Amino acid sequence: MQTIKIIKKMRAFSNKLRSEGRTIGFVPTMGALHEGHLSLVRRSKSENDVTVVSIFINPTQFGPEEDFEQYPRNMESDLGKLSGLSTDAVFIPDDTEMYPEGPAVSVHTGHIGEILCGASRPGHFDGVATVVARLFNAVMPNRTYFGQKDYQQTVVIKKMVREQGLDAEIIVCPIIREPDGLAISSRNAYLNTGERKAAAVLHKALKHGEDLMKKGADDPSQVIKEMEKVIGSEPLAEPEYVEIVSPEDLSSMIKISIPACLCLAVKIGTTRLIDNVIVQKNAG
Ligand code: AMP
Repeated sequence: MQTIKIIKKMRAFSNKLRSEGRTIGFVPTMGALHEGHLSLVRRSKSENDVTVVSIFINPTQFGPEEDFEQYPRNMESDLGKLSGLSTDAVFIPDDTEMYPEGPAVSVHTGHIGEILCGASRPGHFDGVATVVARLFNAVMPNRTYFGQKDYQQTVVIKKMVREQGLDAEIIVCPIIREPDGLAISSRNAYLNTGERKAAAVLHKALKHGEDLMKKGADDPSQVIKEMEKVIGSEPLAEPEYVEIVSPEDLSSMIKISIPACLCLAVKIGTTRLIDNVIVQKNAG
């Protein structure tokens, strides 16, 4: 497994592969790798000749009051996991490599980055889009793999790719969950034992909403109320938002039409967690 720290070297690596007609799959991460990340790496490996994983804790997507300093950092263990999967290369730039002149020239995501998670995290999606554009420029992937776990992020990135005419295929992969339904996340490490148990309520609420919709409920405010009741039954949980939106462009619905994305952000103690399900038409 090659470790690359410099954009110039990353581009040279990718240029050589592309000139040989080989395909590059790319998995951008912030490290603290878990089964969710590894599922993306496996998918990329199955669909491309070469897989590149980046590890970069992007400062521009954290707000001033957020957890940039505490964010878990486990480089040695991350590299072990990636070489265990026979990842071809890891790209681990530092802040000055990614932002040599600071982040002044940044991508503005507008409305799509200001709703849902963007409402409580101003500037977050601008930071995400900015770093992803810079990573695309360094890695020059054919296909890039993102988790549905951060669903709004995938919609924002797809919009950026369309609008900027970037040569990048975006592939959204399923959410990997713990046995009790909690979506695996690097931030789950912040939860104490009681909070960890309570965190199962996110998935429980989503499943309840999904069940109601599958039984024909079509009033979003009614379904949202029911989901909030489930969250309210857990004393450690404080909902930030519960929404039902179009999976295409995250617009809200007056009447539920399927497919629909049920998404929520909930604080468990001081830890903010997100999750979602996309409700699809029943097969047949
Ligand atoms: P992060 O390191 O949190 O920036 O995540 C890197 C990528 O892994 C993103 O595309 C996430 O959506 C994805 N990811 C994180 N958790 C999961 C999960 N539980 N299942 C699938 N993908 C995930």
